[in-house]
Amino acid sequence: MLKLYNSLSRAIETFKPIKKSEVGFYSCGPTVYDNVHVGNLRTLILADVLHRVLKFDGLKINFVMNITDVGHLTSDGDSGQDKMEKNAKTVEDVMAVAKKYTDAFLADIKAINILTPDQLPKASDHIKEQIEMIQSLIDKGFAYESTDAVYFDISKAKDYTKLIGQNLEDMKLGARQEVVKDPNKHNDHDFVLWFKTVGRYEHHIQRWQSPWGEGFPGWHIECSAMSRKYLGDHFDLHVGGVDLKFPHHTNEIAQSEGFSGKQFVNYWIHGEHLLIDQGKMAKSEGNFMTLQTVIDKGINPLAYRYLTLTSHYRSKLNFTWDSLTAAQNALNNLYQEISSYPNEGKTIQEFSAAFKDAVNDDLDMPKGIAIMWDMIKSDNSEQDKLATIFEFDKVLGLDLEKVWMTNKEIPVEVSNLVKDRDNARTVRDFAKSDEIRKQLEEKGYEVDDTPDGTKLKKKFR
Ligand SMILES: [Zn+2]
Repeated sequence: MLKLYNSLSRAIETFKPIKKSEVGFYSCGPTVYDNVHVGNLRTLILADVLHRVLKFDGLKINFVMNITDVGHLTSDGDSGQDKMEKNAKTVEDVMAVAKKYTDAFLADIKAINILTPDQLPKASDHIKEQIEMIQSLIDKGFAYESTDAVYFDISKAKDYTKLIGQNLEDMKLGARQEVVKDPNKHNDHDFVLWFKTVGRYEHHIQRWQSPWGEGFPGWHIECSAMSRKYLGDHFDLHVGGVDLKFPHHTNEIAQSEGFSGKQFVNYWIHGEHLLIDQGKMAKSEGNFMTLQTVIDKGINPLAYRYLTLTSHYRSKLNFTWDSLTAAQNALNNLYQEISSYPNEGKTIQEFSAAFKDAVNDDLDMPKGIAIMWDMIKSDNSEQDKLATIFEFDKVLGLDLEKVWMTNKEIPVEVSNLVKDRDNARTVRDFAKSDEIRKQLEEKGYEVDDTPDGTKLKKKFR
């Protein structure tokens, strides 16, 4: 039974899907005006681990992740330029930027083995759905039109701050959430559903016709409109970074529950920050690092995935190059260890059950990784260890089967060298056998002389 920490109840709960046939699962996706940073990827790995654990438990999932390619402003009061439109002159320019960074995003998630979402809807393809929802919110008295925008009236929402569990007055707001006093708003915290292309947004490039004149949607409404379209008014799981709890997820709840009159999401799962040398990682801080930075240092992107699995998703993870190098070494040791294992074994029940318990216990991946190493070090047969670790890798996502398969194919020149070395050893020509050992090492192989004969291992360094 899967247990998860639900931000809404601030407690660990047993996960009970709404429908047995399919779990509805939504994750906030990237804003495609730049590359995502490794902190964003940590949250996406959390979503992926949850996705994989649900599958591991035999559930069917409909996993939806949005692509924000419309007007992502730092806040409703942001008078700066829309990040999507930086350096752009036409709609085509904006869409070219969106395409470039959507492709880069998809390449990134593939490189760290995030299972492809079932749906990847783009905000720009769902303007109609957003307008319909805004109109309905106006009709129901949750929203109002002003001279420059359509606003959501937070005083109409039932328990607006239930996700953060504190009053607005008691909250410490970050720069991004600063309240701008605006005479057009009924309440200071009312947020924009639709920006009119007047005043400060007169020159906004992306714009659509609406009942309130030309304009473009606010950031929050896209997630409410797209999750509704693909998952319905009420669904199971919503994942995101802890920094999205307020205002983004808080506003999604207010809009969706105002619209439908029903509970929006049953379980809200939030991943903690990645710190870079103890500092908060954010684009606005100018210290953001992408997956390409990791690749450029000659590090396997999966070493980053491994690193994130060694800390619990609800703890801050401090990234250093030393910790990433240690993760890369651990992953290489694992690859090397399993590369010589024979196949056709059976899963080891004791370890398989312990692993399943750990990952179902609020996604305790550090414990899962520890169980994996205990299993590797145990005195079970190598073929049974291989079968067991392939089972674990359905959740770990470290390409173990692929790496093992690739290393089964030993080049002819390597196997000939092994034979020559065996012959040399038979005639006790140790100088020659040592010479061949060196040649094998240069080719990336290590030989072990065991009572059962020579064992060859590929070296991962
Ligand atoms: Zn969202």
